[in-house]
Amino acid sequence: MSTRAYAALSANAPLTPYAFERRALRPADVAFDVLYAGICHSDIHQAREEWGPSLFPMVPGHEIVGTVTAIGSDVTKFQVGQRIGVGVFVDACRTCEHCLAGMDQYCEQGFTPTYNGLERDGVTIAQGGYANNFVVDERYAVTVSDTLDPAGAAPLLCAGITLYSPLRHWNVTPGMQVGIIGLGGLGHMGVQLAAAMGATVTVFSHSASKEQDAYDLGAHHFVLTKDASALSALSQRYDLIMNTVSADIDLNPYLQLLKLHATLVVVGLSGVPMAIMQGNLLSNRRSLAGSMIGGMPELQEMMDFCAEHQITAKVEVIAADQINEAYERTVASDVKYRFVIDASTF
Ligand code: NAP
Ligand code: ZN
Repeated sequence: MSTRAYAALSANAPLTPYAFERRALRPADVAFDVLYAGICHSDIHQAREEWGPSLFPMVPGHEIVGTVTAIGSDVTKFQVGQRIGVGVFVDACRTCEHCLAGMDQYCEQGFTPTYNGLERDGVTIAQGGYANNFVVDERYAVTVSDTLDPAGAAPLLCAGITLYSPLRHWNVTPGMQVGIIGLGGLGHMGVQLAAAMGATVTVFSHSASKEQDAYDLGAHHFVLTKDASALSALSQRYDLIMNTVSADIDLNPYLQLLKLHATLVVVGLSGVPMAIMQGNLLSNRRSLAGSMIGGMPELQEMMDFCAEHQITAKVEVIAADQINEAYERTVASDVKYRFVIDASTF
């Protein structure tokens, strides 16, 4: 299948138009026309090799929403014309304990990333969603409600699930105090999801201009993190704090804000090692944890939760030729709150 896309051809080179062929439909495959693809900060980290060596050419994009155009003979989940979504991975071993438990994101053999990795054949480079079309095994796609705006729904496939999964895993219930560090793509989903679950939400941001937006998204408190005394005043208040920051920040002041037995979950992936003062963990027997996206059953559950609560990302829709500019603005924390590419412009 002929595909028009944008690709990074090497680290730090701007993305450029790129044409390639996607695989022909296999029995369990679904083909779809991409409607919108979100720009996640992980796209930028990988295109610029901030996590180590990447595979080029690279068509990024793992927040993909489209309309099904063809289905293989064995497909049962999708019909032509239906709205479909694909996230951060497109395959896994399917047989390990974690895959069997629906947690393919922790596949013991490693999942097949939507891009910047090899397909299970070990030779084909997987190519992502900054493209006009896509082919995926139906097991690794979810249905997207027609009641959600498709542009605003695209970022749910990564930003949404990445915050939903820890909120569920750490059993967030009404009245719990939840803190979210960084009001970017991930953070602004976390605020909406945690508020919908009944939590009292505090945003920790280094951008004063985002205060009103934080409240509009459902946050109850906004703390400008440049003010150290504002942080220390909140000592031992939180049940759960999630760090969504893409840059290297000091987490020690945030550990001190956790109650007895509370947890700080790292989802931001700067790629820089963290330095933690042991005393901040020992006091109050605190936990420092990580969490990576979510599994396929949970991804569908999150899409349905968002349809029920009418939660979508706040997006700025751009054309394909604005991708490089959007990367620069994302790195400068100048995105409110997710860039989404209109796939009709590829
Ligand atoms: P983003 O939209 O760029 O948001 C990051 C936010 O972090 C910014 O908006 C800003 O919020 C804050 N920030 C950025 N630079 C900062 C600095 N120097 N000091 C303090 N705060 C700063 O990025 P994103 O797409 O949400 O992704 C966030 C991170 O999560 C990335 O590292 C990404 O790779 C990672 N990620 C992880 C997973 C996972 O499964 N765990 C999934 C997707 C993405 P304020 O302006 O409010 O301070
Ligand atoms: Zn992502």
